[in-house]
Amino acid sequence: MENLRQILEENKVILKGHFLLASGLHSDTYFEKYRLLEKPYLIGEIIKTKENAIRSLGITLCIGPLTGGALVAFAVGRMLKVKAFYMEKAGEDLLLKRDFLIGKDDRILLCDDVMTTGGSFKKMIKCLGPDAKKIHGFFVLIDRSVASCEEIVPLISIYKTYAATYEPENCPLCKQGVPLEKRGSSPTPRL
Ligand SMILES: [Zn+2]
Repeated sequence: MENLRQILEENKVILKGHFLLASGLHSDTYFEKYRLLEKPYLIGEIIKTKENAIRSLGITLCIGPLTGGALVAFAVGRMLKVKAFYMEKAGEDLLLKRDFLIGKDDRILLCDDVMTTGGSFKKMIKCLGPDAKKIHGFFVLIDRSVASCEEIVPLISIYKTYAATYEPENCPLCKQGVPLEKRGSSPTPRL
């Protein structure tokens, strides 16, 4: 497989500008994961590059949140030939509906598309409650986190990168008056 950064650039996954991230932070870089998620064949190939590392965790169940995370969990579950469950939004939290049943011996891999602060994984851990002790690993396509998080180990990522993030009150792009673009699940309508 070609260089991953090249694949991300060719598929216009890496965007430059001034963005409001789901975490509430601002950044000059946004990873438009849907340019990958819209190409199931490519996701399959990319995930396969980490197959050995994922298999070594002995996973029996993949779980992913919302549309992006669900698609990643689906793709990993397909590769491992195990089940995948999908968490849905419930206010500020995540919820496992649809009568998804976690077995007592399940070994869970939490999956997501992009990780910035780890907030989404923490919501997933909270949602699992006592079943969180069955988590045996975390998988993310793009890890743009600055600080590692002790709750989120072991973490397997396809692409680890550094992209500056700013608290809104300390954002240099805001100070320069660059228009802020909100992308993601509730984008500003395109006029
Ligand atoms: Zn800003």
